[in-house]
Amino acid sequence: MQIAAMRQVPPQADIAIGLAKIGTYLRTQQWRQADGTALTPTQLQILAYLAARGPTRVTAIALEIGVTQPTASDAVTALVRKGHLERQADPTDARATALHLTTKGQQAARAAAVWPDALLGAIGALAPDEQSAFARGLTKMIRSLQERGEIPVQRMCATCRFFRPNAHDDAKRPHHCAFVDAAFGDAALRLDCGDHEPADPNEQGAVWRRFASADG
Ligand code: SF4
Repeated sequence: MQIAAMRQVPPQADIAIGLAKIGTYLRTQQWRQADGTALTPTQLQILAYLAARGPTRVTAIALEIGVTQPTASDAVTALVRKGHLERQADPTDARATALHLTTKGQQAARAAAVWPDALLGAIGALAPDEQSAFARGLTKMIRSLQERGEIPVQRMCATCRFFRPNAHDDAKRPHHCAFVDAAFGDAALRLDCGDHEPADPNEQGAVWRRFASADG
């Protein structure tokens, strides 16, 4: 009876449950991090995002952190009032404003960008080949969600014009980054790289097939 019930659960569900548990842990950590700062987790996320990406409009912030525009606007208004952000004219569009971190905002963003030691320790405890498989699996899941329009386009190797997958005859470091002109392995695949530049959409499919071909 129990075995029959277990069979009805698709095997992917266990991975989804595992991801949900890690998501819950991260949300708890965000609230702990926010405790005592007079900022909410959403406000800290905005500061960390601006520190990574530079001045940005509120629409881009809402899209990236996965909240509605009114929610992002409220958080931004609070951050401006508290002196963490300031609005300046967007040099690319005179009618729009871009949000900039103040010195106070930069300090808070640095603190918000620190990952919990326990999480880094748990990842570090994985064997190198487990870390490689994990990074590869995450890359594939994120790209799949991107393609379905569930998450915004990420600054990841898979969509970067500098990415040369499986360019080297080296099982440990098969890929090449043409930006830094260096070989790297799956464990070093980037999911948010500051040097990312989008590849030509017409070429992304071929690049992806070359990357995924190593699974066959
Ligand atoms: S520039 Fe960054 S995203 Fe692009 S291939 Fe190199 S490491 Fe990957």
